[in-house]
Amino acid sequence: MTAKLIDGTAIAAQIRDQIAVDVQKMQTEYGVVPGLATVLVGDNPASQSYVRMKRKACEKAGIASFPNELPADATQAQVEALVQQLNDDPKVHGILVQLPLPKHLNEEKVLGLISLHKDVDGFHPLNIGRLAMKGREPLFIPCTPHGAIVLLEEAGAKIDGANAVVLGRSNIVGLPAALLLIHRNATVTVCHSKTKNLPEVCRQADILIAAVGRAEMVRADWVKPGAYVIDVGSNRINDPSAEKGYRWAGDVAFDEVKEVAGAITPSPGGVGPMTIAMLLKNTLRGAELVVTGRVKDLI
Ligand code: NDP
Repeated sequence: MTAKLIDGTAIAAQIRDQIAVDVQKMQTEYGVVPGLATVLVGDNPASQSYVRMKRKACEKAGIASFPNELPADATQAQVEALVQQLNDDPKVHGILVQLPLPKHLNEEKVLGLISLHKDVDGFHPLNIGRLAMKGREPLFIPCTPHGAIVLLEEAGAKIDGANAVVLGRSNIVGLPAALLLIHRNATVTVCHSKTKNLPEVCRQADILIAAVGRAEMVRADWVKPGAYVIDVGSNRINDPSAEKGYRWAGDVAFDEVKEVAGAITPSPGGVGPMTIAMLLKNTLRGAELVVTGRVKDLI
């Protein structure tokens, strides 16, 4: 392997340790325990497992977690009433609505209802809008793309002036990742399913962020030698030789790309743990905004 391994698990663990210290400090100084409310609608096993992981991470860091579950056939009014109730609850500093919501629900309306200062996923249209504008600061940055950028910074990538390519333009990963890179003065190309000559475009990248949801799509000959490669992808693929009959793979063909890239994240063990660390950080920030009274100036 020639590339430096960007160990998301280790970097996330350091961040989480610091959060635990800061949570303790807040409790001592202000008598306030940061609290995260999760909203899970339906019984999608992947969503259930994500929510479980997030709650466990909260507990380890000393953050209170308030689980809320609604059945798959919950009405729009029921989901909105729950979000409103959590908005009004002073013990709750962050609200996480696990996506995707069942198809009959209006996701945009639900996300737009979350109080701006509790929007720890950063998906409120105003937070995303501020992220998209020059000279504006969102209260919260979406956790997965933020985690990807922190990994680049920790690995020593020079983002300022770099050519960056983001593969994927989803609202939750690709688009905010591109915006964060622009804020850091990268020259950014965003690719999607209609992009022509994808390998050629990717080969121009000093920084390549892959968030397409296609297992091992990015091959060695797509990557510029020495590039920083961040693999957001998390794809379950059948593998009869694995104990469970499947394994997890990223969007990057790790075994071959690691021989070309300058630095690379594994998947699993890269962006995934960072997503959770950023969520805890945002929840702590939500509580800080309240205890310091700064929330009034920012919303
Ligand atoms: P989406 O399906 O919402 O978006 C995928 C994007 O990739 C779209 O913009 C789509 O283009 C583009 N795309 C799909 N196929 C191709 C292709 N063949 N060529 C070029 N572009 C393509 O996915 P998400 O953004 O939600 O997730 C992306 C990956 O990241 C997934 O593997 C997901 O599991 C993972 N993920 C990981 C997280 C973590 O914490 N580690 C958190 C969130 C996601 P178009 O817009 O044209 O359709």
